[in-house]
Order: sequence, then structure tokens, then C-alpha cells
Amino acid sequence: MTETKKVQPLQAVKGMNDILPPDSARWEWLEAKMRSVLQRYGYQNVRTPVVEPTALFVRGLGEVTDVVEKEMYAFEDRMNGDQLALRPEGTAGVVRAMIEHSFLREGGKRLYYFGQMFRHERPQKGRYRQFHQMGIEALGFAGPDVDAEVILLGRTLWRELGLVEGRDVVLELNCLGQADERRAHREALIQYLEQHQDVLDEEAKRRMYTNPLRVLDTKNPAMQAMAEAAPKLLDFLGAESLAHFNGVRTILDAAGLAYRINPRLVRGLDYYNLTVFEWVTERLGAQGTVCAGGRYDGLIEQLGGKPAPGVGFGLGMERLLLLLGEVGVDIPAQLPDAYAIVPTAEQLPQVMAALEQLRAAGVAVVLHPGQSSMKSQFKKADASGAAFALVFGPDELARGEVAVKPLRDEGTAQYTRPLATAAEWAAELLRA
Ligand code: ATP
Ligand code: MG
Repeated sequence: MTETKKVQPLQAVKGMNDILPPDSARWEWLEAKMRSVLQRYGYQNVRTPVVEPTALFVRGLGEVTDVVEKEMYAFEDRMNGDQLALRPEGTAGVVRAMIEHSFLREGGKRLYYFGQMFRHERPQKGRYRQFHQMGIEALGFAGPDVDAEVILLGRTLWRELGLVEGRDVVLELNCLGQADERRAHREALIQYLEQHQDVLDEEAKRRMYTNPLRVLDTKNPAMQAMAEAAPKLLDFLGAESLAHFNGVRTILDAAGLAYRINPRLVRGLDYYNLTVFEWVTERLGAQGTVCAGGRYDGLIEQLGGKPAPGVGFGLGMERLLLLLGEVGVDIPAQLPDAYAIVPTAEQLPQVMAALEQLRAAGVAVVLHPGQSSMKSQFKKADASGAAFALVFGPDELARGEVAVKPLRDEGTAQYTRPLATAAEWAAELLRA
């Protein structure tokens, strides 16, 4: 006898999760809700590769950002030495694709995507190494109307999902101005940071000359007061930037959307200008940003395209699902309408032909697999959550009929229906 060695099962990579039933039904429900909202605003789907040249993210996101510096999965393709990266965010890839396919030639585009993103972070609740985003990008539109639209689309989404803005999610808004305004502010800020060296942590000291704005985005409690009192970018904005900011605000005000202006909201990626925003919640601890975005008018040119403005957001699907759970939003389970019970295997060909008719008419009907006692089949039917059991007994089949047994409604008696005209009564089985 040969001895077989037990094979050690492999496990998923740390921080990368399997999404399995019944949880996957929550994802499908959420995605369907989102697609419906996106379509109402005229957004169209794009699907770009998960792997891109590393240079795309270095050029697009900025070299001294957390994402590029510490979190990006970058590697060398051992077949040809190409420098590649798993995408840490969605915007750079979409912009690359638009440039590559000259997609903005005939004007602006409103686009959305769903997909995995990858960042090497410390896994915890709401923070993973593979996570999913839904993102939108409105490319080629310069005005504040589109910034406001992108924000209002978010609000519509919250409402559709059963979240309440102001209670479950709050909008934080800021204006980053333009490069020259940020430069003037930056100089004042560096001067200020130099005067407060004593409270700066190591990371802040390292960043104060490369990315001083990010120093203000610190989570270090010892630096909060210093960050609070630092020179504010809003005070360095010129008339045009202020007009854009006010344009956005006027539309949001008219739409009755309340927001908090957060002068310290700078966002982690370098490509933003003018409007930046975050939808935040207090229900998820430190991982409180559910959706974040803003305007990135320089990015397309920076990636080699003909200059064109852009604005969009990225929304963390895992965080949103966690929030829906916290709030107690009722997400319907995916249950079949009916469960088919087949007493003997000889009936299967006839039964399965009948089920095909029902499915063609839109009925979700699960066939009990294999052979087992009626008792155990009824047990399975109950456990499936189906509203009806369809009992294909030999007597019924001989008469060309099926017995329909309501499972949820004890008071309703079993009745029979003719198989030949299944399309006519199939709708009786559909859930309300
Ligand atoms: P954070 O400050 O929480 O790290 P971020 O500024 O790095 O967020 P963005 O790059 O703006 O995040 O990404 C947009 C959204 O994607 C976030 O608001 C969040 O909902 C989600 N997200 C970002 N990183 C992760 C992650 N590692 N795991 C799960 N969701 C994430
Ligand atoms: Mg981050």
C-alpha cells in the first residue's frame, strides 16, 4: 500500500478576502442599486486592467504619497523585466485609457467603474490589501456644476440605500485652489512648520519640505493643535478659485445638501485641485471615509494627454457594506421563488423540461439534486427560503400537472396546475 501524504491546504493572501454566499448577495444588491443610480446621471461603464505600468501611478498619483511610497504592489514581470503594479486606485487607469483611445476628442465623458484595488496596508476592519471601489470620473468638464453633480450623485446613492445624510454620512468639502495658490500657501506653511519643529513627529519632519500639506493631514494627537492653527489654504485663494468654490456651494445649497467645510481636507493623492470632498461616517471608527474625491484638472496632461479637466470620486465598497450593516439597513437575501421536489428519478426528464418553461417565464426555481426521501426534500425546500414547493409526484405527472404547496403561508392549501400551460400561471410563483 502506498502512503498518501496529506496536502496542506493553501490560504488566501493576508488582507485579501473571499466574498462568498450569502454575503455575496449583499454585494450584488449594492452593485445593482449603484448601477441604477449611475445610469440616471448618464454615467457609462469602463473596465480597465488591474495591472498597469508602475510609472502610471508614480506619474499620476505623485511620488511622495503614501499610496506610491508605501502601499503599492509593484513588481517586475519576470518574463520581460517590465515594471508593473497592481492598481491602488482607479482614476489613473481610466485616464490612461481615455488618452490611449482618444476618447475625449468629441467632448466630455461621464464614466464609472467597479473593481479591486490593492494597497499593502495593515489589515483591519474597513482596511484591506485587496478592496473594492466603485468610482466615477467626469472628464472634460471644467465647471462647478459637474463637481456638484458628482457630489449630489453620492447623496442620491445614500438615499437609495437607506442611509441618511447628516446622520449616517456627512459631506466634508474644501477647495485646494490652483498650483500657484498652493505654492504661496506652501511657502507660508513651511515657514510655520519650521517655527513648530518641536511638536513635529519624524514623519512630519521628513515630509515638511516634500509635502507639507500632508503634514496637516496627520492623525498624531500631539500635532492636532499645531495643524489646527496652521496657515489655511482658503486664505490664499484668488478670485477664480473662490468663484469656483462658491459655484459648487451655491448648487449644493440650492439642492438642500448640508456640508461641513474642512480646511484641512487635502486628500492623499497629489493630483487634486479646486474642489475636494469626503463623505465620512462616525460609525466605522478610524476607517470613517466611505467616499472621497475631487477635481484633478492637471492629471490628463500630466499623463501625456491633451489638457482636459476632470472630477470624480472613489467609494470603498467594503466600508459602505460595513456601514449598511451598522445602520441596520435591510438587504434582501437572494431566495428562490420555488423548490422542485421530485419523488422518483424516472420523472426527472419530464420535470426538468417543465422547470425550463418556468425559468423562461422568470421564476427562480431550484431543483432538489439527486434522490432522497420526500421528508428530507421538504426539509430542504423549507431551508431554501423558497415561497413554494413544486411537488412532481407520479400521479400529478401522469395527469400532466404539478402540485404547488405554499411554504410561507400555512393557511393556503396545496393546489395543482397544468404543466402544458406553465407560462400562463408562472407569475403566481414570483415574489412580490
Ligand atoms: P484612508 O485615509 O482611509 O486610508 P484614502 O484617502 O487612502 O483612505 P482613497 O485613496 O481616497 O482612500 O480611496 C477612496 C476610498 O476607498 C476610501 O475613502 C475608502 O472608502 C476606500 N479605501 C481606501 N483604502 C482602502 C483599504 N485599504 N481598504 C478598504 N477600503 C479602502
Ligand atoms: Mg489610505
